Amino acid sequence: MHAPLEFDVVILGGGIAGLTCAVGLLDAGLRLAVVERDDLLGGRARSWTDPITGDPVHIGPHIVTDCYANFFRLLERLGTADRVVWEPESLLYTMFDGERAIDLRRSWLPPPVQLLASLRADPSLGLLDLASNGAPARVALGIDEQDVLRLDGLDGRAALTALGVRPAMQRRYWQFAAMSILNTPLGRCSAGSLFRAFHHAITRDAVRVGFPGVGLGDLFAPAARAAVESAGHPVWTNTAAAEILGTDARATGVRLADGRILRARHVVSTLPPRDLAALLPESWQGRAEFAALRWFSAVAYVSVYLWFDRRITARQFWARAYAPDDLNCDFYDYANIYFGWTGRPSLIGSNIIDADRVADWSDSAIVERTRRELAENLPAARTARLRHAAVHRIPLAVQAPLPGFEARRPSTLTAIDGLLLAGDWTRTGLPSSMESAAASGWGAAEAVWAREGRPRALVQPLPPRGRLARVLMTAARAAPWPPRLRRVAARRA
Ligand SMILES: Cc1cc2nc3c(=O)[nH]c(=O)nc-3n(C[C@H](O)[C@H](O)[C@H](O)COP(=O)(O)OP(=O)(O)OC[C@H]3O[C@@H](n4cnc5c(N)ncnc54)[C@H](O)[C@@H]3O)c2cc1C
Repeated sequence: MHAPLEFDVVILGGGIAGLTCAVGLLDAGLRLAVVERDDLLGGRARSWTDPITGDPVHIGPHIVTDCYANFFRLLERLGTADRVVWEPESLLYTMFDGERAIDLRRSWLPPPVQLLASLRADPSLGLLDLASNGAPARVALGIDEQDVLRLDGLDGRAALTALGVRPAMQRRYWQFAAMSILNTPLGRCSAGSLFRAFHHAITRDAVRVGFPGVGLGDLFAPAARAAVESAGHPVWTNTAAAEILGTDARATGVRLADGRILRARHVVSTLPPRDLAALLPESWQGRAEFAALRWFSAVAYVSVYLWFDRRITARQFWARAYAPDDLNCDFYDYANIYFGWTGRPSLIGSNIIDADRVADWSDSAIVERTRRELAENLPAARTARLRHAAVHRIPLAVQAPLPGFEARRPSTLTAIDGLLLAGDWTRTGLPSSMESAAASGWGAAEAVWAREGRPRALVQPLPPRGRLARVLMTAARAAPWPPRLRRVAARRA
């Protein structure tokens, strides 16, 4: 039997949220410990070396944007922000429809109409299709957190249909946005989550996309570990928490799977909801706020990496136009992204989102299909020889924002004194993402500082909105929603 180890703060989980929280507390003069079950830090943003080629591979391709103020605050604190590689300034997204590339670009127009010129250039959309997007734009401009909850019971397709958005527009852009931003098909995602994401996108100057120029986890995990350990705090990997300890009203520490007891005044869980639910003492299990933990459901991903014998594109990143039977959503060529890879043959990464569809497919069938979809967009992939392939099966990429998701996202502070929650799925007002994880980690650190009687601001606000967008937001807030949307939202509330 070990004697209990004494800490002020125990942080469960060594992903972005947990490491951000630890970094946010480094100069608090508190005794910290970080506990991570896996042998690698980084969680769902970890990376490793492919065993055959020796090349860095992420768990799956990830992007960042220049709106990720909280994630970049972490990288700046760690001195690693320059390891992100950015797309050319004006380009937001390239969408391939067959071999035709449709570039979504920033234009001279201000938000919320900055993408109108690109949409106008898409031959699959007529003027009536574009005009039908006016109603959701008006609703999204005026939306606040109360409205997000009003729309949360509704799915995205029902909301758009109530607003008269034409099928071509829904198929072309809304289905695509629901899959690529919320990772959930339009007919299954919360209209509250969808309209909030649309609000962020149209009220700010179009977002610039960046990629890790090194292994994804190498952007933050080794530097965070070094910062925490060199300040004298342990970061334990390969160490699972087995139970959070406490009385009816208070968290007092953690029991590890190896039997050690860590006593602490603050326990910060950054675990996904089901992992957290498994650690709660029995007396907390019946509480309404914890009962909701088992409601959340995971979006599975399969990420595919293909090593070719030659360069097949000069692009860094592109996506496929949405088609329900497609597997892959987004593609990346790391030969055009990784530092020092000039002249190397293509290393293509791709994401299959909502991947329960391929759970019983063999790796070789997934590789074959991915190659075919790649070649539909880039004919050079037809003749290039595939030298190696890796298939990463990821049961949890994000929590699915199903209708009801926003209402169930918990806040940092819980009814249990000393138990704080963080993680991409908690109530950050952001889609589950690295930015949400970092914001939640700073938020948990802020809460610890405040509980220690030394409040400190760490969470970064989103970038400012454009001037025209602000004027239109005020007008949109003054106008009631169209009656059909009000009716369907009230029915599903
Ligand atoms: C393939 C893929 C693609 C993605 N694409 C993007 C993208 O393009 N852009 C973007 O912003 N986001 C993307 N995401 C989402 C992003 O990776 C996550 O939102 C983010 O990494 C979540 O961080 P977190 O710290 O909240 O949770 P996690 O990373 O899940 O951290 C929780 C940690 O807790 C640990 N843990 C669990 N149980 C225990 C226990 N009992 N004891 C100790 N430790 C435990 C886990 O091992 C894990 O390391 C993607 C995710 C995947 C998988």
